[in-house]
Amino acid sequence: MEDFSHDKLMRYSRQMMLEQIGRTGQEKLAASKVVIVGSGGLGCAIGQVLVRGGVGEVTLYDDEKIELSNLHRQILFDESDLGEFKSTTAARKLSVINSSVRVESKVLRVGKENIGALFQGTDLVIDATDNIPSRYFLNEAAVAAGKDWMYGGCAGMMGTVMLVRRGGACLECVFGPMQPSDCTPVRPFPVGPATPMIVGGIQANEAVKYLLKKQSAGLDNSCPSEYISIDLWQLRVRRNTIVNRNAHCRLCHRGNNSD
Ligand SMILES: [Zn+2]
Repeated sequence: MEDFSHDKLMRYSRQMMLEQIGRTGQEKLAASKVVIVGSGGLGCAIGQVLVRGGVGEVTLYDDEKIELSNLHRQILFDESDLGEFKSTTAARKLSVINSSVRVESKVLRVGKENIGALFQGTDLVIDATDNIPSRYFLNEAAVAAGKDWMYGGCAGMMGTVMLVRRGGACLECVFGPMQPSDCTPVRPFPVGPATPMIVGGIQANEAVKYLLKKQSAGLDNSCPSEYISIDLWQLRVRRNTIVNRNAHCRLCHRGNNSD
């Protein structure tokens, strides 16, 4: 049990008033470790919510630098940050927002060769990248490690969030194997100014719920994966439970993710 100081009790008092969180939930969040892969629009939004909310440890991965075209949507950055690394700048700002959270940053492109380490000792790995190969690498590493992870993506006025459960369908079950065309990045692609904030906000909110359940052993490992589609132009949010794995999925079919 964490010994909350007066300052911490004040800082989190409004969210601790929620019956779903309370003092016990706040302690669970403080005991949680999260990795966010990508420190752009989604990563900025997710990082803000989780650090402000008191998740104990947050690690940010990104190897890109801040450009002028990022500023309309990447809410942790301003004009004085141009040319700086995203992950280190985001971590610095998040540490100022909440110095009681351990925020770490790695200037590192996450790839097939180093992705497995992200899952070690981590409660949840959250995808905040902007490219398809990274998601498939995350998915494959999560299946191999028998871990849950969260997929998130946005473009234009659309977004997708999927909590990929170790006992449920994986990313490849839903979208099929990665295609050669997926490895050719389409850049720049359009993004609305609010899109990553809302989609990242939904990811962070789902992550908080997940961490609260996980830390209280209220997470049923037989739970299916869930897929959330967000259309901000029509303002429609749909939540779908994916009951079955794809019998033809090359990852799940191996039995790596069978328990
Ligand atoms: Zn699968």
